[in-house]
Amino acid sequence: KKFEDNIKTVLKNRMKEDVLQLLLKIREVSEVRKEKVYIVGGIVRDLLLGIENFDLDIVVEGNGMNFAKELGEKLNAKKVVLHSKFRTGVVIVDEKLKIDVASSRVEYYEYPTSLPVVEYGNIKQDLYRRDFTINAMAIEIDYNKFGRLIDYFKGYSDLKNGKIRILHNFSFVEDPTRIIRGIRFAVRYNFEFDAETKRFAKLSVEEGFLKRLTWKRVKYEIELILNEKNPKKAIYMLEEYGVLKAIHKSIKLTKKTEVAFKNLEKYKEYITKLNLKQWIVYFLVLLEDLNSEELTNIFFKFHFPNKFIEKYKFGKIKREKIIDELKSSEKKSKIYNSLKKLSGDLILLLLITVDSEKEENKILEYINEIRNIKPLIMGKDLIKLGYKPNENFKNILNISFMYQLDNQELCKEELLQYIKNLNIFL
Ligand code: ATP
Repeated sequence: KKFEDNIKTVLKNRMKEDVLQLLLKIREVSEVRKEKVYIVGGIVRDLLLGIENFDLDIVVEGNGMNFAKELGEKLNAKKVVLHSKFRTGVVIVDEKLKIDVASSRVEYYEYPTSLPVVEYGNIKQDLYRRDFTINAMAIEIDYNKFGRLIDYFKGYSDLKNGKIRILHNFSFVEDPTRIIRGIRFAVRYNFEFDAETKRFAKLSVEEGFLKRLTWKRVKYEIELILNEKNPKKAIYMLEEYGVLKAIHKSIKLTKKTEVAFKNLEKYKEYITKLNLKQWIVYFLVLLEDLNSEELTNIFFKFHFPNKFIEKYKFGKIKREKIIDELKSSEKKSKIYNSLKKLSGDLILLLLITVDSEKEENKILEYINEIRNIKPLIMGKDLIKLGYKPNENFKNILNISFMYQLDNQELCKEELLQYIKNLNIFL
């Protein structure tokens, strides 16, 4: 009893006032409909950890779809989306807040990795179909028991001890994506797999269960895990559990990729600076040692757009040549010309794999300075000088820009003078 009271206070203290008010509204709907309702999954875990989470998932012991409709009306929601197949609904309150409403259910797997057969059950059954104990807790939203923690599988204890634990031995057989999900939570919260869970996870990967998943699901999980705060740690754990090799036999950590990952940590801020997606950059580093055929294979399976593949392959082929060019480039214009054709991903890859500090600095100079320089002279300036627009225009503008890059102290007038002095007749 005392333990429960404690949890209640902890939860109440951690809930923001607006969340609490929202739960009170949910409770009113529950009272009218005479259906029990719980908040479940990730938000319960994060409330107990004191971490913000804006995904509100609720489970109704009853008809989730009708519950969602009524809740939508009560909250004056922008929109309510219903899925009659699973009797669930999403209440879109506004841009920031959406509530997933599900009917509590039992899932059976007719054969491992098949899609589950769904039937309606009680909250305990609903929690039992979940991935890990820490994700299988619920909080009751009821008049008498408001804030009571429902914890059939010792999730709270695992949360306190930092353990990732499956609910039963067939968990990874039923859904191997849970292996990657588990690693994601372990990395995010700095938790460990419990010994049994670890054994089952490794065994399931060895048995090739991941290969039964569609590429779409694998890609989705890889995207999520590499977008987490500590992707490097995630990659090392994915390697430890054999997941990398299961995605493609040639994906593994080598000396070269390890150095690249270390450098990438150092230059992490450049991912945002260059407007890149974190998961793609980390994924590309993993593919560093693959040959062209293997790359094509992976890009195809992961549905990368053709335009991306072309740019990537172009950069990959040119890479050594570009480094050679950089070695003899001291002037800004030369650095600019060597790097301008590369996509952002490739520039970052180049930065973290180049083995000479001098060239590294040139790439940094390009990213931080050169690529942001805007030409002072435009076509309209040439027209003002009396030139007539023709096919040579582009060349002149280019000559002017190169001269500008190498002579940063010049102002616009001085540049124009330079062009006049070239005596190019158009
Ligand atoms: P995050 O903070 O990354 O969003 P989450 O726990 O909220 O984590 P979701 O993918 O939104 O993750 O899933 C919500 C809940 O649904 C989980 O907490 C878990 O209880 C359950 N769940 C999700 N995926 C699975 C799965 N593959 N197998 C079993 N249960 C799952």
